[in-house]
Amino acid sequence: MDFKLSPEQERFRADLRRWLEANGPGDWGRIRSRLKTREAQAEFLIDWQRKLHAAGYVGLPWPTTYGGRGATVLEQAIFYEEMARARAPELPNAIGLDMAGPALIAHATEKQKQAHLPKILSADHIFCQGFSEPNAGSDLAAVQTRAERKNGYYVINGQKVWTSYAHYANWCILLTRTDPAAPKHKGLTFFLVDMASPGFTVKPLRQMSGDAEFNELYFDNLEVPAENVVGRENGGWAVAITTLMFERGPRALSRQLILRQGIAELLELAKARRRAGDAAPGSLRVPVAGEPARDRGRLVAVPGLALPRRHHSRRHLRDHEEHPRGARARPPQGLTRLVLTVRGYWPSFRRAPNSNVSISTR
Ligand SMILES: Cc1cc2nc3c(=O)[nH]c(=O)nc-3n(C[C@H](O)[C@H](O)[C@H](O)COP(=O)(O)OP(=O)(O)OC[C@H]3O[C@@H](n4cnc5c(N)ncnc54)[C@H](O)[C@@H]3O)c2cc1C
Repeated sequence: MDFKLSPEQERFRADLRRWLEANGPGDWGRIRSRLKTREAQAEFLIDWQRKLHAAGYVGLPWPTTYGGRGATVLEQAIFYEEMARARAPELPNAIGLDMAGPALIAHATEKQKQAHLPKILSADHIFCQGFSEPNAGSDLAAVQTRAERKNGYYVINGQKVWTSYAHYANWCILLTRTDPAAPKHKGLTFFLVDMASPGFTVKPLRQMSGDAEFNELYFDNLEVPAENVVGRENGGWAVAITTLMFERGPRALSRQLILRQGIAELLELAKARRRAGDAAPGSLRVPVAGEPARDRGRLVAVPGLALPRRHHSRRHLRDHEEHPRGARARPPQGLTRLVLTVRGYWPSFRRAPNSNVSISTR
């Protein structure tokens, strides 16, 4: 695959960069620290998505029929790169834009696409992902949330866990078990659920840090119309896998580009501090609470890690071209926490600086 940008793509980047300079909100780490509640943050982020949408920058690779721009995955990558460069926040409807929407484009009926896709772009339908359960994490096909068919609707009972964004989402992609007698991957059904329906409860899941980044979902005789099944009854595994492939593709690419930008900034900071003589030669000590001392060595070779990450972004793009239903590449973990902490995206760690990580600039 040729990664050289065409003159149109270079122009797209320049226009976007100019637009972000004139209209971008600035450093999300700083803004976030001023917005004290989850609700205030959500409101800010939804406004931000709407502003970008009005300017034509949301849903770049989606078909124009549904309000997208019909661009390639390279424009999407440029978009993420410029957003990271501007330190702008990620869009609040990340699940809708990068996962649920693409899965609907692949599997949904025309009626479902018309009902949801334009509203995902405009942030009127904000999605969360109801997949994981207390006894179904890595082994996702073990989900036990039960959906039973009654005439024109299904009755759903059960629980989900680790649900990001559910505190401000209004729609949920929900994986349920409809046939307990079938082999586990073959008895699942995928629903679109209006979270305002009676019997749908969202509870914040408070972490040790005091933050509630995730939620739990409870379903108590929740009724969902049969027309909200995506794909077919007991055919939910295929739709879930498409969703997860997109999670590993565009969703992970966005995070990776933020990380790459963050690593570059960290190195600049480390060099500047070394020049100023206020750090031990060749290193910058960054306070990170709870980081075990044995991890310090792992984080030393930052320049060496930056390169594989660049290769990894390329692998994502190539995979996406070869597997348009979702890229296969999985991003390496590692420096994410450090970069997010230093950028101020992870305030719980910033608040309690009681250990150190060394970054070498050699
Ligand atoms: C930041 C974040 C956001 C998330 N948001 C959402 C969300 O919005 N919606 C949602 O549905 N889920 C979400 N999840 C959940 C996530 O996608 C996984 O489903 C979940 O983290 C894995 O399940 P678990 O925590 O029960 O771990 P387990 O599945 O219990 O795994 C625990 C450990 O055991 C290992 N392991 C498991 N099975 C095997 C095996 N067979 N062989 C060897 N090792 C094994 C795993 O690798 C892991 O190290 C989120 C997770 C994170 C970290």
